[in-house]
Formats: sequence, structure tokens, C-alpha cells
Amino acid sequence: MSSPRTRWRSRTPELFVPEHATGDNGDVTDDARQTIVTLDVEGVLVPEIWIAVAERTGVEGLRRTTRDEPDYNVLMGYRLDLLAEHGLTMSLIDDVIAGLEPMDGARAFLDQLRAETQVILLSDTFEQFAKPLMAQLGWPTVFCHQLLVADDRIVDYRLRQPNQKQRAVEALRGLNYRVVAAGDSYNDTTMLGAADAGYLFHAPANVIAEFPQYRALDTYDDLLAAIRTHL
Ligand SMILES: [Mg+2]
Repeated sequence: MSSPRTRWRSRTPELFVPEHATGDNGDVTDDARQTIVTLDVEGVLVPEIWIAVAERTGVEGLRRTTRDEPDYNVLMGYRLDLLAEHGLTMSLIDDVIAGLEPMDGARAFLDQLRAETQVILLSDTFEQFAKPLMAQLGWPTVFCHQLLVADDRIVDYRLRQPNQKQRAVEALRGLNYRVVAAGDSYNDTTMLGAADAGYLFHAPANVIAEFPQYRALDTYDDLLAAIRTHL
């Protein structure tokens, strides 16, 4: 039988749960938290991949993006139907993506930001689409989804988890990080809302008008300056 002392020593230590989210700072103040930045990818660092596929294939319906259709599952169902209808292969889309480059200044902005703080890219794209673009961005960490491909056809997709951007931000705050987030579309707004500070970047007028609570910025210099106020 173990003594009370042994039992005490063998107890699992209690997990540290930051209290700042509930307004009680405890021993750790908000100011003591380290900052981490979460960035959307398409529309912020690289062009919209599906629009590039639309331009290459002439299938106009593929121009619809999260900027137009707030429900991601509806949008993806529509895209997969169009791919099947027009017989568009994974190889063709690979080829389109291989010809894409990050936006002007994106790599320099990301390199500078990563030199100053931690950065995680949160994207609703897919591993298969992201890889050639991440190579050009110096292999930053990216959380995204997965396509299911069979016989060179995209047959389905697997979301890593629903509402993954918001949940990643909440998880990072649970790790006692101050989170600064930026994105351009409807699928970013819950991420911005969950963050300690959220910015719209390169956002279209309809998103800016619907979400006036988030400051809208349009240049990497302005975004870097805004993020620096939180470091
Ligand atoms: Mg985007």
C-alpha cells in the first residue's frame, strides 16, 4: 500500500489553464502572453487557386469562391460537380497550380513576419493544392484539408475538422498565446472573431461592409505594422 505522501507525489499535475479568456488574469497577465499570428492563404498570400483553374479551363462556374458562397460545403459540392461534368483531372489542376506564384511581396512579408514572431497559415485549401505554393513561401507551417483522389480524379474531400480556423485559434489561445489573425473572406471571420485581434486583408467590399468590426488593410506594410502593435 502506498503512503499518503506517495499518493500525493504520484498525482498527475494539474494542467495549466489560462484564465485571461474569462477576464481573470490570475498569475499571468495578458501582457505576458507571447504572440502568434494566423494567416489565411488564398487571397492573402497567393492567388485564388480555383479562379486560376477557371481561367485555364474556361469553366466559369469555378470562379465562385468563399467570397461569393459563405457555406464551404455547398461551394465544394458545386466545384466537385463541375470537375466531374467537365472531366477535369487532378493532373490538370496540378499543372495550373505549378504555374501559380505567391502575390508580389508575399514572400518578403512572410519572411519578415516569421523573423519577428511565430506564424501558422490556416487555409481551407487542400494539402495537394498547397504544397507547390508552400515551397515558394519557404515551407511555413500550414493547417488545411485533404482531397481524395482516385484515377486522377478528385472524387471527394476530407475536412480536417469543421470550422478549423476558429478552432485552431481557440486552441492556440488555450496554449496561452495572444493570437493575431488576418484573412480576406467569409471563411475567415470566425477566426478573426476568436482571435485577440483580427484584421481583414485584401477583402472585397461586401465582406468589409458586413464585418465593420475588423479593420481592413490592403498592403503588406500596413498589415506588418498592425501586427507589430501586438508583439
Ligand atoms: Mg482567403
